[in-house]
Amino acid sequence: MAWGAKQRRRIGVMGGTFDPVHHGHLVAASEVRDAFNLDEVIFVPTGEQPFKQGNDVTAAEHRYLMTVIATASNPRFTVSRMEIDRPGTTYTIDTLRDLRRELPDAELFFITGADVLPQILTWKDADELWSLAHFIGVTRPGHDLDMTGLPAAGVSLMEVTAMAISSTECRARVRAGKPVWYLVPDGVVQYIAKYGLYLPEDGEAGVGR
Ligand code: ATP
Ligand code: MG
Repeated sequence: MAWGAKQRRRIGVMGGTFDPVHHGHLVAASEVRDAFNLDEVIFVPTGEQPFKQGNDVTAAEHRYLMTVIATASNPRFTVSRMEIDRPGTTYTIDTLRDLRRELPDAELFFITGADVLPQILTWKDADELWSLAHFIGVTRPGHDLDMTGLPAAGVSLMEVTAMAISSTECRARVRAGKPVWYLVPDGVVQYIAKYGLYLPEDGEAGVGR
């Protein structure tokens, strides 16, 4: 680096539905932040996809607020509203383009779990993705890290401490009246209970929460 040149800020981007955010997400983001010496990790909850019939993803505002609660105590974590506030269907490429524009001097690192990595090739404008950000694939229990078809230069793989937690399982547990303590941050447990998220349609309250 030339004398006096300022080091580029290194920004991690963690996209997800976060329905709800859980300790698997937080550990992955924290480990990648440390290993890649990132200044910050921005969590980007996905927007609502009104055209998708029959997928009952929780309202974006709830998912956003739970992500804020979960990350509030970490000075290196922030949450962006950019996807939830963008009208219509949102794509990762739009988010990375917007971040590039907002942070022209930053180096972007998109963090994603092993289950998502193979799908990336099918994303809109996949070729451009590699020029906008470096991709970091993290291990996830039950999913192999598969690099097939991904550009070796644009993707790094990283083993993170295994946390066999999924949002699907957390939702199912709440629905069944089982606890989600210690799978999600305490504030998120309380937020879910406060708004009665993930309960069965008939409103039957779960026990053990
Ligand atoms: P769902 O079960 O609803 O799909 P999820 O637990 O997979 O939820 P997402 O919001 O879909 O959570 O995931 C956001 C990102 O976090 C994805 O890149 C995903 O691969 C990654 N991720 C989720 N859970 C883990 C985990 N336990 N370990 C590592 N990465 C994870
Ligand atoms: Mg998922």
